[in-house]
Amino acid sequence: MLNIVPKGIGWIEVICGSMFSGKTEELIRRLKRAEYARLTTAIFKPIIDTRYSQEHIVSHSELKIASISVTSASEIADLSTDADVVGIDEAQFFDENLIDVCQNLANKGKRVIVAGLDQDYSGKPFEPIPQLLAIAEYITKTLAICVKCGNPANRTQRLSRNINRVVVGAEDIYEARCRFCHEVYHTPEQIKRKERP
Ligand code: ZN
Repeated sequence: MLNIVPKGIGWIEVICGSMFSGKTEELIRRLKRAEYARLTTAIFKPIIDTRYSQEHIVSHSELKIASISVTSASEIADLSTDADVVGIDEAQFFDENLIDVCQNLANKGKRVIVAGLDQDYSGKPFEPIPQLLAIAEYITKTLAICVKCGNPANRTQRLSRNINRVVVGAEDIYEARCRFCHEVYHTPEQIKRKERP
């Protein structure tokens, strides 16, 4: 990261990685620092994510910060008018309109911090995160630890054979895996076998 802090302009930061990699924890840390600096924050998450709380973003390590649950990215634009800093969690659950919303907020001089999964359960890029990575000024990739072998893990293993892209859950149905230990189910029956290099 360049050691120059932008002045008088907005920008986009993306925090992405697998589940259990500390994305939400890092998002909350940045937003709390902004609040300590007396900046006005507006913090959002999609209403689909009801695992912990409707009024807070909560990390697996139980850090939390007040947030607004919204059903669409356009609501974020409407509710961010007075904010200096806009935080968005679970960005992979928003549609592609989130890209324009983030661009417009940054163009209006706001600092926009977006956290989300960069790959789905099968290891495919999870829209709209790839597009947000392309337009962001700052990118942080967080890594978890593979539960099978202890290597750095950037994939999310789904432990059920459900092949819907969005299945909301936590430790009950997901775990972090490295690229070798991650098993891809193209169909419920099929497992793509891999050889150790
Ligand atoms: Zn592994």
